[in-house]
This record gives sequence, C-alpha cells and structure tokens, in this order.
Amino acid sequence: MNATVPFLDLITPHADLEAELIEVFRTALHSAAFVGGESVSNFEQNFVAVGSGTDALRFALLAGGVRPGDTVLTVANTFIATAEAITQVGAYPEFIEVDERSYNMSAEKLHDYLELCAIDVRTGARISRRTGLPITALLPVHLYGQVADMDGIAQVAEKFQLLLFEDACQAHGAEYFSKRNERWCKAGSMGKAAAFSFYPGKNLGACGEGGAVTTSDAQLAREMRMLRDHGQASKYYHDRIGYNGRLDSIQAGILDVKLKHLAQWTKLRRQAAARYNTLLASIPEIILPFVPEESRPVYHLYVIRVNHRERVQSQLSKSQIGTGIHYPVPIHLQRAYAELGYKKGDLPVTEMLSAEVLSLPMFPQITETDQEKVAEELAKAVSSQAQPVF
Ligand SMILES: *Cc1c(COP(=O)(O)O)cnc(C)c1O
Repeated sequence: MNATVPFLDLITPHADLEAELIEVFRTALHSAAFVGGESVSNFEQNFVAVGSGTDALRFALLAGGVRPGDTVLTVANTFIATAEAITQVGAYPEFIEVDERSYNMSAEKLHDYLELCAIDVRTGARISRRTGLPITALLPVHLYGQVADMDGIAQVAEKFQLLLFEDACQAHGAEYFSKRNERWCKAGSMGKAAAFSFYPGKNLGACGEGGAVTTSDAQLAREMRMLRDHGQASKYYHDRIGYNGRLDSIQAGILDVKLKHLAQWTKLRRQAAARYNTLLASIPEIILPFVPEESRPVYHLYVIRVNHRERVQSQLSKSQIGTGIHYPVPIHLQRAYAELGYKKGDLPVTEMLSAEVLSLPMFPQITETDQEKVAEELAKAVSSQAQPVF
C-alpha cells in the first residue's frame, strides 16, 4: 500500500477519450477553423464561450452594467480572479463575511452591512462605508462547487436594487432548491449573468484555457459576443472597445466531447464525497463539508478543516498523498489588494477558514482504495499532533 494518491488526475480521463479528442484536432487542422467556426457554435448553444473564467466574469460585469467607480460586494475566500474581474472593469471589490458552515457569502451579513450604509439621496444607491462609492452589484461565489444561499442573496439584491451576478467557475451543474422559484435551479441560472471556467482542473476542463457566461438576457449575450471579439459588430466594424477574449475552436471541440461526460463525472464525484463522509466520520479532529438541505454540490473540491494544517499536510505528503489549500491567503489580505486598506481581523470567519481548510484528493476516477488510504493516513496525521515535535 505505498501507491501515490494524487490530488488531481488529469491523465486518466483524457486517455479514455483520446481518440475522440484527437479527432477534434484533426477536424481543426483539415478545416483551418482555429478561431470561431462550427465547433465553437456547436459548443455554445446556450451560453457565450470566452477565453477564460476571468474573461467570463469581466464580460458579465461589463455587459451587465457595472461601471467604473462602482463598488461590487463579493467574498474574500475565493480565487483572486473574482476580485480581479471587478477591478478590471474599473470597479472596487468589497468583501462580505461568509457563513461559518457553508463558507459561502452570508445573506444575513450582507443585509446587515447594507442596512448600515448611507443612502445617496440623488440615486438611492447605498454608499460603501469603505470606498465611499455607490454599491451597485453583488458577486457571490459558489465555492468548491456548492451554490451560495441564492434565495437570501437575491432578496437582498431586490431590496437594495443591486445587480446580481454569480461566480460559478467551480460549480458546473451544481443545484440549489430555490423556495422563491419552488424548484431546483442550476448554478448560473439565478443571476443576471454567471461565469464558468474551463481551466483544466475545473469539473469541465479544456486542454488549455476556456470559460463561458450564461445569461437569459439576449441583449446581454449579444453584447458579450461583441466584447469578446474587439467590440466587433461585423468584420472590421467596431461598435465599442472590446477585448480578445475568444474561446478557440480546438478547445471548443474538446469541451464539446467532454461535456457529454460531465453528468457521469459529477455522479462519481458525489459518490467519492459520500465515501469520504463515511470514512472520515469517526475522526473527531476533522470538520467535514457542510451541505445544506437545499444544496446539491458537485464537489469541485472536497474540503475539510483541521488544526495544525501545515503539519497534517506535510505528513500526508510524506505518505504520497496530494492535497491542496483553497485558499491560504484571503483576498483582503493579499498584497495585490493592499490599497483597499483591509487589515487582519476584518473578516474573522474568512481568516479562520484560510488557516484550517485542506482539500483532499478529489476527481471522478479516484478509487475506493485511494480514499481508504487517505482516511487512514489522515487519522494518523491528526492524532500524532498531540505529541511534541522534538
Ligand atoms: C478558476 C476560477 C476563476 C477563474 O477562472 P480562469 O478560467 O482561471 O480565468 C474565477 N473564480 C473562481 C472561483 C475560480 O475557481
């Protein structure tokens, strides 16, 4: 039992699909359709395909009406791209504390914060207590593949007349039971627009970069199609200043092939998560992922919490078990965002999570034997903490 358990296996799924994926490349070579063309339009039936998740976020915010000088409320325990997209449209990110159990944006704390903000008498907008600028939009993140409390957040958005977007970059196919809509809703279907990433390690991953925006607003979709292509309305006629944010044809073809397997891969991830839940239930030092009744997560990551995380992680690494930390430094404490003026202690729950979270190996093809080994080594690693180091 000395086999390695990788954190993520990106080889097996591609080996299984090798013939189909090579065919995608052959088609592109033979048609010379590398950018645009049939494989992109085949892939993007119900969304706008773009170059990355970050592009998707930026275009969604831009087309959705976020303007330079606006403040957008989001969370700090996310990948930095969530905040970067806000900054890149000329707006300012401001971070709302997260729920201690779900790790997602807390609708209560969001509401309480907005209640405290002054109102601009001319526009009716709430003025951020931090930036002094109008708050115009919300960008919750469906962290680790679990949808945030969208009923609560949508209610706040309505009350304070804020645009609502979703960062669904980790949540392909995740579901949420909306009491307001009285049905299960998919991640990416509840905001004005939502961003997905097809970065290789995501639940649906390209063999390179890719992303997509979902929206039910046809006008928004049209604008995003222009934004991703230099603001081009027709060839060499540019109606606005845009970007080079296109998905290339080979990636679209690859994603089209892989999309057909996503439901099965999600099922396998859920089975793997259920096995971890059982295997780890008897280890009192570990806090397991919390899944609210209204949530069907897709386990982009399976994240536990432990004390002395670095020691546990390095012990697992010595036993050939790969793990990850998502994320070690919350955005409000990143050097890149120092000018926002946050300090340690401003978001205690977020900061506590960043010190304790540990992502275990999670991918559709993980075996029961791998998971048993992870559980065994984890039990040893957390119990050995009681002993002195020297
Ligand atoms: C991956 C990710 C992004 C960015 O996606 P890219 O495709 O890498 O640009 C944004 N937000 C979250 C939460 C992510 O996990």
